[in-house]
Amino acid sequence: MFGGKETPMVHCRRCGGEVAEKPLSRLVLVGLALLTAFGLPVLGPLLWLPAIVLGLTGAYFIVWAVAGGGRWCRGCKRFDGV
Ligand SMILES: [Zn+2]
Repeated sequence: MFGGKETPMVHCRRCGGEVAEKPLSRLVLVGLALLTAFGLPVLGPLLWLPAIVLGLTGAYFIVWAVAGGGRWCRGCKRFDGV
């Protein structure tokens, strides 16, 4: 898993479209890092907007990892958990 092996292009089982694949560990790490942005408003009330944007992006990455197993179909525009 950590051999740096290139993953062959995966195709969606529903529509046959291209499936974007990201390493699970990286998605979770980046997601958790972005989720900490929810703490930004503590530093200044004006930071709530970037905090929400970054936090939601982080939550999205976590959902991508958990629900989609790191896969996202460009054809169906949804997580490809199959
Ligand atoms: Zn698809």
